[in-house]
Amino acid sequence: MRLALLGMTHETNTFSRVPATYDRFDIFRDDEIVSQYAESQSTNAGFLEAANRFEVDVVPLTFANTGPIGTITKDAFDRIVRELLDRLRDDGPWDGVLLSLHGAAVSEEYPDADGEITARVRALVGLNVPVGMTLDLHANVTQKMIENTTVATFYRSNPHLDPRPRALECAELIVQTIRGEIRPVQALEMPPVVINIVKQFTGEEPMASVIRDCEDAIQRPEILTASVAQGYPYSDVEEMGMSFLAVSDGDEPAARDAARWMAQRAWEMREQFVVDTPSADEALQMAVAEEYGPVVLMDVGDNIGGGSSADSTIILETAKRLGVKSYLQSLYDPEAVAVCVESGIGSRITLAVGGKTDDMHGSPVEVSGTVRVITDGLYEDPTPTHGGFRYFDGGTSVVLETEDGHTILLTSKRSMNTTREQMYSAGIVPERYKVVVAKGVVSPRPAYEPIASRIILVNTPGVTTSDLSFFEYHRRRTPLYPFEEDARY
Ligand SMILES: [Zn+2]
Repeated sequence: MRLALLGMTHETNTFSRVPATYDRFDIFRDDEIVSQYAESQSTNAGFLEAANRFEVDVVPLTFANTGPIGTITKDAFDRIVRELLDRLRDDGPWDGVLLSLHGAAVSEEYPDADGEITARVRALVGLNVPVGMTLDLHANVTQKMIENTTVATFYRSNPHLDPRPRALECAELIVQTIRGEIRPVQALEMPPVVINIVKQFTGEEPMASVIRDCEDAIQRPEILTASVAQGYPYSDVEEMGMSFLAVSDGDEPAARDAARWMAQRAWEMREQFVVDTPSADEALQMAVAEEYGPVVLMDVGDNIGGGSSADSTIILETAKRLGVKSYLQSLYDPEAVAVCVESGIGSRITLAVGGKTDDMHGSPVEVSGTVRVITDGLYEDPTPTHGGFRYFDGGTSVVLETEDGHTILLTSKRSMNTTREQMYSAGIVPERYKVVVAKGVVSPRPAYEPIASRIILVNTPGVTTSDLSFFEYHRRRTPLYPFEEDARY
């Protein structure tokens, strides 16, 4: 039995001004997919693991991935998808296909880029070849994606610590389908609700209840698996919002009933998904008032994993103005890195850092300080991190200690604050600071929850702000809660 493994993952922030061009994608082929992912906790790892578990051949073809930036250019979509389909055609025939997608990809031509990929794959392999798909919990799922796949599973935890088991589960159901043991039927429900990014942590209410309902639905005897997608509110597409999927064994009413039950229960909780978070000023005052650190401030408006610029200076500027000391944060700024490298370790320097990508994340802030460390920015974390990544590359990086009592890790690539190894590898011990800024909402939790005396979500402006009234949407459904409070389901 031969299964093809292929895909493209991109979480498109349609408000970001950084386009996803072909050059920005990392493309892995054949054994490169194995060496990059097999030992990780990612979707691809779960698909690859299926080979041994179920005694089938899983053939890695091509996988393309880039960080969550702006819209995929038509050129990039055409070139990547052409390669995916060429390889699927040339290396076939297949008994099954395993698709590694995100579910919130938007190209210049296709608002539902993932749906377009599934439709093309289905058209190529025909109706009789089972197609499995694993999506991120932040997918804006469409009927097109579900109609063109046989079984879909979505990550069930945010931070995403379970891509590997979800992909393995998907592959198992596909293998069982090929063997004629089951006949999956999928039902998708899409209540008109989008949930605030600061309410998407699955370890806390209200999401904890939503996930529990999903696990209860899976316990129904006729249900093979079920999933919830939280949606991705920074992708301005028609299907933006939550969705609920149930997969039954040949029983469409049972699948529909389970999906509707999950959706109805979440819909009834919709008011709990709307929140107010403190401003940078308020959050820093709260942090200073704590007896012990580190107080970790989540920079929600500069959520790197959500497609932001990684160079917001909003909290830094506020900390400087308020005189907050013992303060640590990273900033993406390749220009500043180059200046510091030129200046050399131990040199004193004055320069403007951050705030250079666009005009939504503050202005460059002038700082004076000492260049303490220069590194290649490569680090590794073998423990589960958000998304299952193990190897990280921040590009050439510099540790700057400023006269304000701030430590700034300047990076030359946009690297998420999802592991403390980012800091340790540069000689920084985050445990020693009173205030640590982590750019993100949920993804930094596995890294910083173990050391934080308190975590505060901060309502900073930016392309991933929790204040959705900041954005002008053109394609989303109306009515959609909470934009239209009279939306009905
Ligand atoms: Zn996600």
